[in-house]
Amino acid sequence: MIEFKIIKKSKKSKARIGILTTPHGEVETPAFVPVATQGVVKTLTSEEAKMAGCQLLIANTFHLHSKPGEKIIAESGGLHQFMNWDRPLMTDSTGFQVFSLGFGSDLKVGKLLKYFPGENDQKIIIGQQPNKVKITHNGVFFKSLVSGDNIFIGPKESMNIQEKLGADIIFAFDECTAPFVTYEYAKVALSRTHRWIKVCLEEKDKNQALFGIVQGSRFKDLREESAKYIAGCEGVEGFGIGGDLGNSKEQMMEIISWTIPNLSENKPRHLLGIGYLEDMEKVIEAGIDLFDCTVPTHYARRGFAFTKEGRLDLSKTKYLTDRNSLDSNCQCETCKNYKRNYLSHLVRADEWTGSHLLTIHNLYYFNKYVTNLRERIKNEEI
Ligand SMILES: [Zn+2]
Repeated sequence: MIEFKIIKKSKKSKARIGILTTPHGEVETPAFVPVATQGVVKTLTSEEAKMAGCQLLIANTFHLHSKPGEKIIAESGGLHQFMNWDRPLMTDSTGFQVFSLGFGSDLKVGKLLKYFPGENDQKIIIGQQPNKVKITHNGVFFKSLVSGDNIFIGPKESMNIQEKLGADIIFAFDECTAPFVTYEYAKVALSRTHRWIKVCLEEKDKNQALFGIVQGSRFKDLREESAKYIAGCEGVEGFGIGGDLGNSKEQMMEIISWTIPNLSENKPRHLLGIGYLEDMEKVIEAGIDLFDCTVPTHYARRGFAFTKEGRLDLSKTKYLTDRNSLDSNCQCETCKNYKRNYLSHLVRADEWTGSHLLTIHNLYYFNKYVTNLRERIKNEEI
């Protein structure tokens, strides 16, 4: 059960400010949603994620199903209690793994925006199956990353697992298509996604809010058809925009612009898996309320800090003698207590604490960045 109240709409763009109320509290939107794949924001405790300003986290159904299994989590009182996170929580449906463990794995592309196929590249055609997953009418056969066993997940299974995990917001099971699919493949995949959402709506726990996912790859008519179809499904409480978002940032914005006008105005819209700092203002202006991304945490573990001076690579020797904080404006626990020289030393020495301290800073920085964007919408600047 969620409630979404739009408290201000921009006159300059499609940006809006909202309050998303869930059984575990409120989220001020637009909001950045950090990724907690395994029920943890990598290297942080749940208390530290709160201190870094995180309002809402997204965990991964497939990974938690594989390890430790939803039964253990349900018996521990659900994922909130299991990970000691009392703020709002989302779980994704496993639809992304249809891509990442399927054609994405075959083509060694983990992220949708990292690979831009050319016009002459071989395309995925109807009937083609990935090497490690099998996509059927009723759902998808995966191989467990833990035991190698076959795992079948369809819309019903996804809802049952997500019910046991007990997040406030759950996503419908969909087929997240790879960037190389033909129009015909995308159309057939979309018909599966649309059939599966009906099953999700029948099976889902009534206390959880279901977000339907708009697919349709890079094809305008399919995106429009999908947005209209998902928006027309009774019981859908919000929207995810997923899948292949084209081969450039411009095309991503174009795809969003085909989608948003066909979604209900009064329900939250979540852009799945996109959250580079330079994209945030644009996607918010296009009418996006929520977006998740691993960028701040992923880069932190590789020694990068996001600051008002840009992205700093702390592994560079010049930072070993730099006694400034990462960002002179930042009020995070890392910037309050440590300087660039020590952080650089930790990164270069491969110390776990370096990843930990940079993750705290990067998340704080991203959350503050979005807080500022909310202020700018309030002030009619965007
Ligand atoms: Zn900081």
